Amino acid sequence: MRLDTLGIDPSVSTLFPPEVLRDALSDLPVETVVLDEARSATDSLDGVVTFAYDERFLDTGWIHSVQAGVDRFPRDRLSEANVVLTNSTGIHGDAIGETVAGYVLAFARRLHDHVSNQRRANWSQPEWNEAWTVAGERACVVGLGSLGRGIVDRLTGLGLDVDGVRRTPTPEPGVDRVYTPSELETAVSDARFVVAAVPLTDETSGIIDRAVISAMREDAYLINVARGEVVEQESLVAAIESGDIAGAALDVFETEPLPESSPLWDMNEVIVSPHCGAFTHEYVDHVASIVRESVRRVRAGETPVNTVP
Ligand code: NDP
Repeated sequence: MRLDTLGIDPSVSTLFPPEVLRDALSDLPVETVVLDEARSATDSLDGVVTFAYDERFLDTGWIHSVQAGVDRFPRDRLSEANVVLTNSTGIHGDAIGETVAGYVLAFARRLHDHVSNQRRANWSQPEWNEAWTVAGERACVVGLGSLGRGIVDRLTGLGLDVDGVRRTPTPEPGVDRVYTPSELETAVSDARFVVAAVPLTDETSGIIDRAVISAMREDAYLINVARGEVVEQESLVAAIESGDIAGAALDVFETEPLPESSPLWDMNEVIVSPHCGAFTHEYVDHVASIVRESVRRVRAGETPVNTVP
């Protein structure tokens, strides 16, 4: 693949200013430009770094997604057009791990209640049996990739026992039992926290369905940092409303932004975050490292980092 010109699509501004990435890559032996109306991807760019997909990118040889998930990219069309797709998996484990640890601690220590009461100048202590500590509780992490690793490390650090789910049934450090997807209902059944951290694929779409939610404990919380479609949202809302599970912390939703009309906004035991669980001011540096190494590899005739099959 030829690589002399690299475009940065303005859509990356969801995560960082495009100019900051351009400047971080300014020493590369390729012309790196921020795309705008005047300079579109069809103007003979060899590669593009982007958040969003655009048909124009089919004219390039390489698309790098600044996210880990590539569910929004038409993989068949890209391979027909001989466009290599790479992603940013591997850089989110620390931030997502800390976000999940934050949700877990908020529920146990009732921090979400305190913030909500504070807004109303309401001095209200929890009931004697409301607060708890997480050491010795069990979590089940569905997806043990780079997100899963960061989550397992934080949760075991807090003293939780952790089980995991993935297709490859090999042992994983820090994980007591590794289950396969066909055992999902068993895997979640004794966890206080069930954490979704899988890519969105045909296999994982709706994988946390009504049956899996029903298999959860009544005092369990569901945490979704994967993609909204991985969880059947309607079943989740129904389960929380009826007390079948205790609550949820959700960073991702079937529809984003979460519509104002969603019942999730008003539920006491639900924490809503606006798809920002991986945000950190270092995000741009992490993406720059991946792109830098890919540029080196491509120009040496090698395969770029994180090629999506
Ligand atoms: P990885 O590719 O590193 O890991 C994916 C994991 O999921 C692997 O352990 C894989 O194991 C497992 N997996 C894949 N398919 C299944 C399945 N059908 N059932 C059970 N496990 C499965 O990806 P990342 O950890 O980097 O990212 C995961 C996803 O998280 C991303 O695709 C993205 O959608 C989302 N994400 C969300 C962010 C946010 O801001 N909230 C930030 C970053 C990522 P195996 O192959 O053995 O099944």
